[in-house]
Amino acid sequence: MPVAVARTIERLKKLRASLPVAGGGAKVALVPTMGALHEGHLSLVRRARQLADIVIVSIYVNPLQFGPREDFADYPRGLSRDCRLLAGLADIVFAPGDKLMYPQKQEITIALPPIAGELCGRSRPGFFEGVTTAVCKLLNIIRPDYALFGKKDYQQWILIKQMARQLNTGVTIAASPTIREVDGLALSSRNAYLTPAERQTAPLLYRTLQEAAAAIRRGGNAKQCCADAKVKLRAAGFVVDYFELRDAATLSRQTDAGEKAVILTAATKGKTRLIDNIQLTIPPV
Ligand code: AMP
Repeated sequence: MPVAVARTIERLKKLRASLPVAGGGAKVALVPTMGALHEGHLSLVRRARQLADIVIVSIYVNPLQFGPREDFADYPRGLSRDCRLLAGLADIVFAPGDKLMYPQKQEITIALPPIAGELCGRSRPGFFEGVTTAVCKLLNIIRPDYALFGKKDYQQWILIKQMARQLNTGVTIAASPTIREVDGLALSSRNAYLTPAERQTAPLLYRTLQEAAAAIRRGGNAKQCCADAKVKLRAAGFVVDYFELRDAATLSRQTDAGEKAVILTAATKGKTRLIDNIQLTIPPV
């Protein structure tokens, strides 16, 4: 059965009310996306289906989160293909336009903690404010019980979790593991930008994360392991933005023995910015 598409809030309400499960106590899960769907997105939709009775996928390329020199214009778009992929998986696709999301200049945005200015936030100023503002609007429009995010965008997930909690949204933020190609490359809509030669080299990003995690688990000095990783990636033609070990819960630089940590990286290959991460437990002293 084709998935129903709502472009307005009124239509969204109507579609929702017409679902057989609608009404008393039906739980709703939202999967916010920018479209150009792949298995990573679909894994979130499947998880949403396990959590809730009604699954809504939003598709919106949010201009607020793109910098002036970023790929907003080029970002892949294809609503009909996305809807075909969602048939039988989601109940409703919510595809608002800019007029619905930003009927006037968005002057009220979400102020985030300092961590939003680090890692991806350092080279993409305003990015997380743009993401959390759009997600907050979607949560207010849809009022789901759950919203699902991928750990592939680890820093985004942490900040959205904090936003949802600190602004009392009442929404449970759930996260799913990163889905990868067989060679380890994390699925991303932006992988479509890679040339065949770049695509061949791209899996090195995750391999390097795995190697750094293994070295740290063996007791290696984290700073040195990350520095070695950067050298390796640069030698393979990546422009490395960051490659850092952080606390898995807070993303603070302070990581403690025996505690969960995450190595996060962003690197550009050609014109494609790739991000990835790997979780690990710091060995006890
Ligand atoms: P995007 O369309 O890139 O904004 O992503 C929408 C959601 O899908 C975000 O929560 C992402 O973290 C998640 N996502 C993107 N790629 C993957 C992946 N490879 N595995 C799991 N989740 C993903």
